[in-house]
Amino acid sequence: MSDKTTGTSGATELRAAEPGPVKPAGRLKADADLKQLMGKYYNGVFWAHRLHRPIAWITSGAPVEPLYAMGITPVYPENYGAILGSRKCAVEYCEIAEGAGYSRDLCSYARGSIGSMMADRGPLNGRGLPAPDVLICAKNICNVVVKWWEVMARHYNKPLFILDTPYVPEEPVKPHQLEFVRGQLEEMIAFLEKHTKRRLSRSRLVRVLENSTKTVALWEEVQRYRQASPSPSSALDMFTNMAPIVAIRGTDACVKYYRKLADELKERAAHGVGPVPNERYRLVWDNIAIWHNFRLMKYFHERGAVFVGETYTNAWGEYSFSPEDYKDPIMAMARQYSGVLLNVGPEVRLGRLLKMARDYRADGVVFHSNRSCKTYSLSQYFLARGVQEQLGLPTLFIEADMTDPRAYADAATKTRVDAFLEILEGRKEAGGVGATAGAGAGGRTC
Ligand code: SF4
Repeated sequence: MSDKTTGTSGATELRAAEPGPVKPAGRLKADADLKQLMGKYYNGVFWAHRLHRPIAWITSGAPVEPLYAMGITPVYPENYGAILGSRKCAVEYCEIAEGAGYSRDLCSYARGSIGSMMADRGPLNGRGLPAPDVLICAKNICNVVVKWWEVMARHYNKPLFILDTPYVPEEPVKPHQLEFVRGQLEEMIAFLEKHTKRRLSRSRLVRVLENSTKTVALWEEVQRYRQASPSPSSALDMFTNMAPIVAIRGTDACVKYYRKLADELKERAAHGVGPVPNERYRLVWDNIAIWHNFRLMKYFHERGAVFVGETYTNAWGEYSFSPEDYKDPIMAMARQYSGVLLNVGPEVRLGRLLKMARDYRADGVVFHSNRSCKTYSLSQYFLARGVQEQLGLPTLFIEADMTDPRAYADAATKTRVDAFLEILEGRKEAGGVGATAGAGAGGRTC
């Protein structure tokens, strides 16, 4: 897959614009629409269950387009895990799973979701997620999902399809790998047709792919505005705003929402409005959000640091299809879903990260060493070394878990943040600037 990291042309225009005095920005106006949109999505999930319409429990890296084209409602246990984290009830559900023998070393999305499933309760309407009719697991993000999905399929006694995607150590994806994944996708569609009694219409699939393409283009546009100084939004906004591109990618409602969000960020960027008045340090975040502790992001903000890019949110800009692809939509999906961030080699990941740091003129990179997600965290020391050696940027490691606060120490983390920001300040005072300064030694790790 080609590197779809946001381009630079828009940023040049934005940097050329006179930003004027920095104004503090409150919440995005689009947040109200976001709440409504995702509320409607989850209402739709519960209604689908009541109306006996087919529901598929699906992994975040799986191709959702055939499901929408067939009128099957996708449900994302991983997104649900993030909800448990942000509503600060993950521990309650993780402990139910742990009590049944699931190790605390397992991904907390899996533990929380399994706990909620076992107890059949959760924060959305008092019950757990509505039961699936089928389950789809793509192993392009990690191996945990394979066992996790097996557990859920056994619990509900429902059919499971595992979509096998070979690891991609270097780009582009090899033709024989693509052929293999194409075969898998054809089997997946046959599986869905068999178990839901719905047929996949090619024209409907293309229509959904067109919406995915528009969504991804708008998401890239949104990200591009963040290259402006001050950045019109931060990781706080983007982590919550990625929910639609994950769960309802391919729908008209998703396209409409991101058009509105892009317009709002464009206006903010044009008027020099950002979440961090007197933005002093521009940072890139690697790994999933710490959903249970957004206060840590605010701690950065209060000290003049803003996250202008995240590898996690940026990765969702990789699911794009070109009009040429619509001639062979299955092959297009094989290509896109093989090259996702967690299925590529560390060198490819490093290339994407360096490009982000340059494009967004980062002053440093913060690595969330996420106890839950080994796939994401494993190569972070390699990435940090690459950032230090090739861009001369300091890096910070934060040890935490995306939803389980038991694996996070607030005071110790803040001490490290303070030390990291002191290093950045020292570089500023010495005349050092961000990633556009080019390669060179000088990066340090906290
Ligand atoms: S281990 Fe990582 S990639 Fe796998 S489900 Fe958990 S968070 Fe997602």
